[in-house]
Amino acid sequence: MSYVFTKQFSTPVFNGKISVNTGLFIDGQYVHAIDRKTIKVIDPTNESAITEVACAMEEDVDAAVKAADRAYRETWGLQVPGYERGRLLNRLADLLEQNIDEVSAIEAIDCGKMFLHVKTMDIANVLSIIRYFAGWADKVSGKTIETEESKFAYTRYEPVGVCGLITPWNFPIMVTASKIAPALAAGNTVVIKPSEVTPLSALKLGEFTAEAGFPPGVFNVIPGYGTVAGQALSENPLVRKISLTGSTSTGRIIMETASKTNLKRTTLELGGKSPNLIFDDADLEQAVRWSSLGIFHHSGQMCSAGSRIYVQEGIYDKFLAAFTVASQAGQPGSVFDAATSQGPVVSLVQYERVMGYIKAGTTAGARIHVGGTRIGTTGYYIQPTIFVDATADMSIVREEIFGPVAVIIRFKNEADAIEMANDSMYGLASNIFTADVSRALRVANALDAGCVNINMASIADSRVPFGGIKGSGFGKELGEYALGAYTNVKAVQINIGTNL
Ligand code: NAD
Repeated sequence: MSYVFTKQFSTPVFNGKISVNTGLFIDGQYVHAIDRKTIKVIDPTNESAITEVACAMEEDVDAAVKAADRAYRETWGLQVPGYERGRLLNRLADLLEQNIDEVSAIEAIDCGKMFLHVKTMDIANVLSIIRYFAGWADKVSGKTIETEESKFAYTRYEPVGVCGLITPWNFPIMVTASKIAPALAAGNTVVIKPSEVTPLSALKLGEFTAEAGFPPGVFNVIPGYGTVAGQALSENPLVRKISLTGSTSTGRIIMETASKTNLKRTTLELGGKSPNLIFDDADLEQAVRWSSLGIFHHSGQMCSAGSRIYVQEGIYDKFLAAFTVASQAGQPGSVFDAATSQGPVVSLVQYERVMGYIKAGTTAGARIHVGGTRIGTTGYYIQPTIFVDATADMSIVREEIFGPVAVIIRFKNEADAIEMANDSMYGLASNIFTADVSRALRVANALDAGCVNINMASIADSRVPFGGIKGSGFGKELGEYALGAYTNVKAVQINIGTNL
């Protein structure tokens, strides 16, 4: 029996206990890693260790994959009707909802996110995602295709098999839900490799899946390092699909590994450097509110963060003034205080990375309009930062910073705006602010992006497909489209005549 971490909280917004089994969750049970290695989990608000979790090595990954493969062939996959898979997913959502405070607290301490934000946004989304795909579980059916008089064909959507799901640290439970819900609804079994930085909520899900009644081996969680556990998962020949949410460099490694092993399918949800286009006729208040949320929420640690803000000349000064005020509204503090609205970045590595970009921006000649320094001396809090006077060649304009850092650049006309927005290796999300509906739709069509938002920033919605193009990867999560990522189409042709 592995170690169970527990902690009692008595805070203005959460009074209660959390408990997380810190073993690997394999074949329906929490177990020690074979060589008993562990990973320290750090609270980014105070830099202290929360607990340690088991750290999977190659042999542990192999055990989890074997359990998932056996479950796929014997107790899940085509053995279990869609309505039963949907029933179990709904049961999982109910258990999460019954324990929403505990789950929110676990995610809050692990990521340094405000408890109330987690509860009302992240977990609310998780419930909606799981229930949405539970509804799909018995509705994934193929087509009948007329061919010739004496023949016809039909298609079946079949599960892919064992899916390796590799997740990042910025929205751990939401990203996990976006992958497990369509995967399990479609009849796959899963091995989740959560980020080594934030493994707690995925481990907690193990307990709920067992209680919900998922057969052992259908759902497995193996915290571990990317280069060891993630790599072993992507190399394993019994794994038929890898879905990664992570950086573009990790996406490249996973594609390469997939191509060298069993040509497993891949879905890659990668980084971004998303543009916000603010036209002269935009509703200023709306544009400021959404742009501020779009880059400063969760300290900018969002793949779809609107980090390049292009503003048309006529509204530039007013926008900059109002956006500056909005950027200062964040209140750093304890994640369990209702007044706190700004958390830290997730780790020392991330803190140093963001500060490195801020330094690179000033060295290259851009000007810090506000922000740019650490807040306090404990915890990885960084001031919301706005750069001006930046040029297109600078790293702060080209590269994903993944922190509370916005760059504001002026543009003259629509053609300029489109050209600047598309001048990026990424193509995840783009946001357009204008009162002119014709322009909004014209620009939406012209942008190189997997997702476009008009008069709003990117918000995850269980019904709406999400995913990028170019360096932001390929494949969609959420919405009906996500089912395609976890199913194979089998075509069956039938001859009902006697001729050739
Ligand atoms: P990361 O690429 O460092 O890690 C992501 C996951 O991949 C982790 O679980 C990590 O352990 C694993 N990993 C690392 N190397 C691996 C390897 N060689 N083989 C297999 N797995 C490996 O990214 P991160 O720092 O955790 O997360 C931030 C990145 O994620 C950003 O680039 C961000 O844009 C991206 N992201 C994208 C989306 C999206 O939906 N497009 C959402 C959230 C985050």
